[in-house]
Order: sequence, then structure tokens, then C-alpha cells
Amino acid sequence: MRALLPSKLASLALLLGAAWAAPAQAENKPVEVTWYGHATFLVRSASGTTLLIDPFISQNPKTPADKKDISKLRPDAILVTHSHFDHTVDAVAIAKASKAKVIGAFDFVATPDVPDDQKAGGNVGGVIAVKDVKVHLVPAMHGSVPGGRPLGFVVEFGDGRRLYHTGDTWIFGDMALIEEIHHPDIILLQAGGGPFNQQPEVAKRALDKYFKPSIVVPMHYGTWPVLATEETVKKAFGADPRVQIMQAGQTRTF
Ligand SMILES: [Zn+2]
Repeated sequence: MRALLPSKLASLALLLGAAWAAPAQAENKPVEVTWYGHATFLVRSASGTTLLIDPFISQNPKTPADKKDISKLRPDAILVTHSHFDHTVDAVAIAKASKAKVIGAFDFVATPDVPDDQKAGGNVGGVIAVKDVKVHLVPAMHGSVPGGRPLGFVVEFGDGRRLYHTGDTWIFGDMALIEEIHHPDIILLQAGGGPFNQQPEVAKRALDKYFKPSIVVPMHYGTWPVLATEETVKKAFGADPRVQIMQAGQTRTF
């Protein structure tokens, strides 16, 4: 047996020390969520990893003026649930300026004009790492032409907590599997209604039927008259204490 070099011994000691020092039970670390209106969120993990989901900012009627300047955004990754303009409009400009990875369906990520080393395409079931955070690709029931299939994202933080951005979708039975596998603690829930997505009362049904989160933020409503209003969304979710109605531009820590 070869003798361990002093440097290797030192590494081993450090590793063992780290294991002994680990707390018996991990504590929840705060997650910062900023809503830009519609389906656009900036999520910041406790360690500072930032994910910009569905960047629709410069043309988003709900994004307040002080949040419109996309040149200020330097996320670690940009997550795109599907190819429709109201989820993608600012993705390329922010990717080019920030050098952020663009994460989405393989077929979608192949097309935007961003350098190849920033393209992080995947498909349902895939996992893509962004620093200390893992992004799980899950199904959504919607369209995404051109650009592959629609997705939702489950973001897994270092402490094990998970945030689920549903993307655009209707309620579907496999939400039971998303709960079984990922048990999301924070859900950014499609409740946009109109002709495109699940109506707010169906979003509430999806929540009650399939999930057990501690925080729910309804989204994708109020952007245009064709969509559900904040009043309709509030009425549908009633007095559910888990539901947080955010205002566009707001940041909350969960
Ligand atoms: Zn949409």
C-alpha cells in the first residue's frame, strides 16, 4: 500500500472534519422570490445563486418601471418553460449580457441566438445543476411551437427544499407524481385563466388535490384583459393561508 502524501492526509482530515461538523438536522434557508408580473420570477437561493424564470420584462405591461432595465440582470441561469413570447422575449438579450446558462427543452434551447456553451437543454426527467442548485425538468400541459415540449421546473436548493414553477398548464394527473417525487414546498402556480391556461378555481383544485406546500404564489393573471383578474384569483383561493398574492415588482422571502 502506498503511503498517503501529507497533502492527501490533510484533505482527508478536512473532509472528516466537515462531516463531523455537519448539523444533525438541516434548517430551511431563506429563498428570495421577486415577481416581475406574468410568469416571470427571479429566485435567489440562500447561497446567492440566482435563477431568472420566463424572462418577459421589457414588454410586460405589469413590470414596474424600476424593474424594466434588463441590462441590470445578471442571473446565473435563465429558465424557459416554453417558447411563447410571453415567456421568452428577453431571454437572448439577458443571456448575452450575463453569460447565463439558458435552461429549457432541448428543442427550444437549440434555436435561440446564444453561444453553444450557454445552451443547457434537457427534457422531462432531466436534472441540470446551477452552482449549488439543481433544476429538475417536469411536464406541463400546454403548447410550445416552435421549440419542443412545454415544461415546468422544480428547483432544488442546498437544504433540500424545492420550489415548483408550473409553467403554463392545465391541471393534469401526473402532478401527483411531481408531488410524490419532489414534494415542493413553494409553488409558483399557473392561475391565468382566459383561453390559454387553467382557470383560477381549477388551479385551486390542483393545489388541493395534488400538493402539500407551505407557500403558493398564483401567477400569469392580470397581464391583459383576456386573463383572470386579481379579484378572481383571490376569490378562487379564498382564505387559504398558504396563498400569497404578490404585486408585480415585489420581493418576498420564504
Ligand atoms: Zn403564457
